[in-house]
Amino acid sequence: MSTSQKLFHEAQKYIPGGVNSPVRAWRAVGGDPLFINRGKGCRVTDADGREYIDYVSSWGPLIAGHAHPQVVGALERVVKNGTSFGAPTAKEIELAKTLTQTIPSIEKVRLTSSGTEATMTALRLARGYTGRAKIIKFSGCYHGHTDALLVRAGSGALTFSTPDSQGVPEAFSSMTLVAEYNSLSSVRAYLEADPEGVAAVILEPVPGNMGLVPPEQGFLEGLRELTREFGVVLIFDEVMTGCRLARGGAQEIYHIDPDLTCLGKVVGGGLPLAAVGGKAAIMDVLAPLGGVYQAGTLSGNPLAVTAGIETLKLAHAAGAYERLNMLGDMLAEGLRTAIRETDIKACVNQIGSMFTIFFGVDPVRDYESATQSDTETFARYFRGMSEQGIYLPPSQFESAFISLAHGEDEIQETLRAARSVLQNLGS
Ligand SMILES: *Cc1c(COP(=O)(O)O)cnc(C)c1O
Repeated sequence: MSTSQKLFHEAQKYIPGGVNSPVRAWRAVGGDPLFINRGKGCRVTDADGREYIDYVSSWGPLIAGHAHPQVVGALERVVKNGTSFGAPTAKEIELAKTLTQTIPSIEKVRLTSSGTEATMTALRLARGYTGRAKIIKFSGCYHGHTDALLVRAGSGALTFSTPDSQGVPEAFSSMTLVAEYNSLSSVRAYLEADPEGVAAVILEPVPGNMGLVPPEQGFLEGLRELTREFGVVLIFDEVMTGCRLARGGAQEIYHIDPDLTCLGKVVGGGLPLAAVGGKAAIMDVLAPLGGVYQAGTLSGNPLAVTAGIETLKLAHAAGAYERLNMLGDMLAEGLRTAIRETDIKACVNQIGSMFTIFFGVDPVRDYESATQSDTETFARYFRGMSEQGIYLPPSQFESAFISLAHGEDEIQETLRAARSVLQNLGS
């Protein structure tokens, strides 16, 4: 038995399923999860001392790679002065200012500790601001595990074929209308049916939680127009894409000006930090200025804020996003070529440093097509890649992430592994 297997056995005695977040248990790909001892740059080392090129990147935050000296050094200096005060600190201003400068639609921003809190707050704000109750979300978009949003939520929920969680009363989820991603008409139908009833439309502008699915031409623009027409708050959940696809996230790439934006992952640099920001007129409805309550004991603590500030400095360095895009293109093109060399049906969706290889289906443009994938073949691919020293997200319905610590050598190493695994799958 490997050390990871022993640890997993032990963990299951004390932690439900042995993990503190369900997808980590590898249920979708079979086998026992690796326990990770340490990470450096783009590599992680498991409890048995095996090294892997990491494409999980802690599910997105580690755009600068593991244990970057600049991030670690700053954290070491800060931790000596105390970890949390429950009082404002100057560093919070620095991060908030950086976020408003990076993402022009964000005039004011409130820091939280998780993306779940950020989306929960965004919804409450939109409801408080508009005085309306309903929200529209999209099949396959994940926004954290807040009750109202755990409806056809992709990702972990999709992986386990339990699209709706138990424990969410019908009365809560009935306020959530589910539209189809890349289908404007599905949104318009809801709005026309109840023109004064919908507070917000929330979406991942580039969904990563049903695997990566790009927005089709005109979809995001159309949503912006529709929500304006009906007085609905447009919420971009950029917890995954913010400061990842570009400095200003997906909204910069597609030139959209949402009313509210949720951030997380990269902006916390691997520590628990997320944010909700947007138009001042809406943000000022938050307590203590307005009547919408929101709070957090550890929100904006000095350690999390420091990790965020230093990580954003690294991501904002000249050429960083160009480099991530270049590496992403190289990997995606290489994977497509490797697929063509076999008789396997699969497609690679990729934007910048995010990518997913879908098996058994081509193309994947929404939840419907994503769920047609051959998860059995994905599981075999995953296990093959793991044996070759490549650590991928353990589910078909996830995006993989490239970091600034990856280089062309690691991309080529990954492609060599992929070619050999794919050839074995095909034969
Ligand atoms: C990860 C994620 C969340 C939830 O963030 P947590 O910090 O895990 O609560 C919300 N929305 C999107 C788009 C995400 O990718």
